[in-house]
Amino acid sequence: MIEEEITIISPIRFVRDDVLKLIPYMPSTDPCKIKLDANESPYDVPLEVKNRIWEKLQDEHFNHYYDPSCGKLREGLSKYTGAKPEQIFVGSGADEIILDIILAFAGPGRDVIIPSPTFSSYEIFATVAGSNVIKVPIVCKKNQDSWAWDLDEIQIKQHFTKDKPQLLFLCYPNNPTGDYFDEEKVVNLINNFNGIVAIDEAYFEFGGKTFVERLHEFPHVVVIRTFSKIFSLAGLRVGYAVGHEDLIQQLYKVKLPYNVSLFSQIAAVEILKETDWLKDVQSKLIKARQQLKAELENIKGIKVYPSSANFFLCEFEKPRDFVYEELLKRGILTRRLNEDPLKNTLRFCIGTQEQNEFLVSSLREILS
Ligand code: PMP
Repeated sequence: MIEEEITIISPIRFVRDDVLKLIPYMPSTDPCKIKLDANESPYDVPLEVKNRIWEKLQDEHFNHYYDPSCGKLREGLSKYTGAKPEQIFVGSGADEIILDIILAFAGPGRDVIIPSPTFSSYEIFATVAGSNVIKVPIVCKKNQDSWAWDLDEIQIKQHFTKDKPQLLFLCYPNNPTGDYFDEEKVVNLINNFNGIVAIDEAYFEFGGKTFVERLHEFPHVVVIRTFSKIFSLAGLRVGYAVGHEDLIQQLYKVKLPYNVSLFSQIAAVEILKETDWLKDVQSKLIKARQQLKAELENIKGIKVYPSSANFFLCEFEKPRDFVYEELLKRGILTRRLNEDPLKNTLRFCIGTQEQNEFLVSSLREILS
């Protein structure tokens, strides 16, 4: 018998050139005691609320598909945001909202403007959708004794006329830099843009500024929000968009048919009712932010950028990989960002009082 030679050829040769160049989004799996790398809430959903969610789930049919339009949740969100249920769309995390906005309004061959550095999903999903990504660097300016990262309004506007983009992302406050861009500049860009402006308000509850109240003035603006931060539901994947009814309707055409699970919808409806708990978490984290900033600023060799979110971006005199590793040795996981202006920075979110105190004492030791 003649043995046939089997040559195994890697399927990689079939992959799209643009996908080949992408780096998968793989958060660190370094073991840690204190997880400050993903801007999550340090407070889990209270046990009595979890129990209420379990009870509600028991009455449901797991064998049936659940509401693809997230009707009950949109009603709850209508009360929370003040927008009409028809102006709200729910997705599997803000990530899905970002993808659906790109699929509906950008897609193959269309131009998307992304100020940079910012949240990585905009660029990744726009590339995957076949759009042309136009990255415009943000600028860092000193304001008295503080620093502010802001939009380069002139450069962005040049692309409005040169490239005729269809979609502009603005992260407000910006992740990873931490603070809002100048509001006047944002409004000016909105007023001058002949396309969709997606304003990502994932951290809205920590800073309070919003464009939801101005949506009647700006039918081409869509606001993105999430249940992963203040609402403590990162593991359940719920996000939402608020915008003009006609704009919102387009998102139903590109979403996955049953994009938000039964579990996630019920949990999100229940957590929205927990207004006292939410206020308490909000005030604890905002107070902790003030305290943490003051303490960090007292440490030598660290520059702390202002934050209106639940995290800080810090720059170090010592090499940041050294600081990262030393923090990790003490059980604290932070986030390294690789865009050029952030090469010597770390981003970490605000934890419990105890976690924040340990972070400060560790940094004092490491940077001394
Ligand atoms: N937008 C911003 C600005 C974020 O920081 C994040 C998550 N860190 C998201 C969107 C995605 O949120 P979700 O967990 O709801 O997908």
